[in-house]
Amino acid sequence: MSQDTMKIPQATAKRLPLYYRFIQNLHASGKQRVSSAELSEAVKVDSATIRRDFSYFGALGKKGYGYNVGHLLSFFRKALDQDEVTNVALIGVGNLGTAFLNYNFMKNNNTKIKMAFDVDPEKVGTSIGEVPIYHLDELEKQLTSASVQVAILTVPSSAAQSITDRLAASNIKGLLNFTPARLSVPAAIRVHHIDLAVELQSLVYFLKNYSDSPEEKSQ
Ligand code: ATP
Repeated sequence: MSQDTMKIPQATAKRLPLYYRFIQNLHASGKQRVSSAELSEAVKVDSATIRRDFSYFGALGKKGYGYNVGHLLSFFRKALDQDEVTNVALIGVGNLGTAFLNYNFMKNNNTKIKMAFDVDPEKVGTSIGEVPIYHLDELEKQLTSASVQVAILTVPSSAAQSITDRLAASNIKGLLNFTPARLSVPAAIRVHHIDLAVELQSLVYFLKNYSDSPEEKSQ
């Protein structure tokens, strides 16, 4: 995030990429303005939250006009550092890891998985979607050489903490943890934990128990 977005609340910051993707699509389709109601419908965030979020960005919609798409687009581009590519490493080229390498976040053109690591001799030395797979022994050396700042963890949870300790010592700033392990990291490192099994379970729980009033409709 750039200086401009340092002070916005974290919940708002998390919605930035969501807004950005939608605004990009609007811009590509030639639309010049958008109302908070239209945005709300598209991104499934209530319009009061959208108006509050956008006020943090200094974007004040005009009544009867809405927001200027071009202005929003340049704000989001700047805020999300679109000019600067963030190099990402992926550790653990199993089923999930392989899917990420094939996908490689092409729609978010500011992040790129540059390298992957594994310990399986059948995988080490090969590449998937042009991403080379190195042995975990080379972790520190390769991360430093490509100035990688973010890592995605898709290893078995038993291996997660020891790899995290090595990542922390290698100047990694952010970690996207797909393992069920709760990780301990130094305060300077930010961890986002995504446990797909728990997410699915909680969705099913909400469907079963709150199907008449789905409060968790949006994220
Ligand atoms: P997934 O959970 O991604 O679907 P999987 O079920 O195919 O994967 P897992 O046993 O979870 O396999 O392992 C994921 C990947 O992590 C495998 O490719 C495995 O070789 C790799 N792996 C296991 N231990 C380590 C380790 N200590 N360091 C790096 N990679 C590891």
